[in-house]
Amino acid sequence: MIRVENLHRHFGGFRAVDGATLEIRKGAITGLIGPNGAGKTTLFNVIAGRLPPTSGHVYMGDEEITGLPPHVLFHKGVLRTFQIAHEFGSMTVRENLMMVPAAQSGENLWDALFRRGKVASEEERLRAKADEVLEFLTISHLADQKAAMISGGQKKLLELGRTMMVDAKIVFLDEVGAGVNRTLLNTIGDAIVRLNRERGYTFCVIEHDMDFIGRICGPVICMAEGKVLAEGTVDEVKNDERVIEAYLGT
Ligand code: ADP
Repeated sequence: MIRVENLHRHFGGFRAVDGATLEIRKGAITGLIGPNGAGKTTLFNVIAGRLPPTSGHVYMGDEEITGLPPHVLFHKGVLRTFQIAHEFGSMTVRENLMMVPAAQSGENLWDALFRRGKVASEEERLRAKADEVLEFLTISHLADQKAAMISGGQKKLLELGRTMMVDAKIVFLDEVGAGVNRTLLNTIGDAIVRLNRERGYTFCVIEHDMDFIGRICGPVICMAEGKVLAEGTVDEVKNDERVIEAYLGT
């Protein structure tokens, strides 16, 4: 579904992504692992149009999508989750979901949300959709809470929920498990697997928790020093000597 060819992203003389070549298979949940500083987040940011590459190519199917801005990628169904910005913390969980289609498509957010004469039926449609998403994620009880007040794990579920407000085809998730308790992590894992099976989402997930990766991911890609070090099943990658060495070296 996504093919990355010899991708580079340098910061000054530093090669954060240094010739990465990899494929993200359609319909799979791919895990992206690797020690801190391996270049995983930078790779995500380049694929998702947040950072221009220094060189190299990204393809979606046969189409080159290198360097396309996030709102253009959004229309192709390519989404990267993003943390809830400070300024949206005072909005409710439901409102955070309702604003996604406008926010992601590059519309002026405030116009889209508050323009006069906005059609009531559109607002109703978004509200119904948001409520359906919250139910899918089993967090309907949080609908009217301020987003700033929910826990880290619940915020991760909300991030996932935002991808459901639009027709995502491939979702890039960054560190879903960071600081999340085990119960909530299982809920997040279940939601990812159900989105994959029931709605056909393709996922690429950066995560450090190998149990989590093992539970939800098919293929696993390990990066180190800006390059792909190993690929395979979770067990293959986990037991790969180069991978073990890369982790020990940090
Ligand atoms: P990972 O997600 O695997 O931990 P990152 O992609 O976040 O790795 O970072 C890879 C390296 O690139 C790190 O050493 C980081 O310090 C560096 N880096 C990331 N973003 C920038 C930036 N904007 N400017 C300079 N260096 C950066």
